[in-house]
Amino acid sequence: MDTGPDRYEFASDNTAPICPEAWAALQKANARYAPSYGEDRSTAGVCDRIREIFETDCDVFFVFNGTAANALALAQLCQSFHSIICHRHSHIQTDECGAPEFFTKGSKLLLVGGANGKIDLGEAKALVARQNELHSHKPGAISIAQATEFGTVYTRDEIAAIADVARAHDLFLHMDSARFANAIASLNCAPKSITWEVGVDVLCFGGTKNGTAAGELVIFFEKEISREFDYRVKQAGQLASKMRFLAAAWLGLLTGDVWLRNAEHANRAARQLANRLQNEAKMESVFPVEANAVFVSMDHRLASGLHERGWRFYKFIVPDVYRLMCSWSTTDAEISRLIADVVTIK
Ligand SMILES: *Cc1c(COP(=O)(O)O)cnc(C)c1O
Repeated sequence: MDTGPDRYEFASDNTAPICPEAWAALQKANARYAPSYGEDRSTAGVCDRIREIFETDCDVFFVFNGTAANALALAQLCQSFHSIICHRHSHIQTDECGAPEFFTKGSKLLLVGGANGKIDLGEAKALVARQNELHSHKPGAISIAQATEFGTVYTRDEIAAIADVARAHDLFLHMDSARFANAIASLNCAPKSITWEVGVDVLCFGGTKNGTAAGELVIFFEKEISREFDYRVKQAGQLASKMRFLAAAWLGLLTGDVWLRNAEHANRAARQLANRLQNEAKMESVFPVEANAVFVSMDHRLASGLHERGWRFYKFIVPDVYRLMCSWSTTDAEISRLIADVVTIK
């Protein structure tokens, strides 16, 4: 682990190492020859395990990262003349370099606000009603993030309410879940209860931030929708020839619920960090801490003081809201070191 002067412990959950179980599974897969392009046993094992976890016969595809998962899933759902309703601060809007627009070949993202990173349903409905038939892009999908970019988690009822609106307007419901495990750990519910049971059509299920090196899943809950998606994945350069290594690491996560333990650990670390920031430094979290992220305001002196001590983390909302991210590997000692520096600088 990098313990040099730069400290990436709270910069993101993708600065964390590969978790031991995923690493062990990779090593095991590396001991032999195996078929390529997803014809191997590990890939089949992940698909079976996903169907077991979601308690339904879904279609599962691997891609390399979350941007590809979202963009290709949305391209599968939307024609070029469709629009996609999403939160103003969604990853597909702010962090994917136009990949959804590019891969859909013209779909437009329609932005709505909403507290705590969650879509305001009233605003979404008003937006749909405002679209000028034939002259505007035709609304085609709603995209929500679970957990959200602000470390909050939609409840089952909130998702069901969004799905009702989607159904009423003949829209697909896409879930960007780079942190699905954190959401499930937070809600302590069955994966089906916040996905297909309430009307989610496609789920982008992230493994990277949970403990693998790469590889995200695109899960379709309706077989008609996934038709020829394998070609879309290949054309986009997202079909791994050595797919078994993406899959093996995933099997490491999905065997014995490692994915949930990793997420519970990360969520618990975030709660602890938030509590200690509040109790020991009088710093309130800006959003409810429901997953593995903590957002706090810092004045320039504190932020730059921490940066000088090597702490790396991002400003998320101007002018002064910063994100501190926990992962499966966050330790009490790391939290204590950060808190000590915060208290010293303050
Ligand atoms: C990290 C993340 C992604 C995926 O990002 P990639 O860097 O493309 O893997 C997607 N959505 C959300 C909400 C994320 O946090």
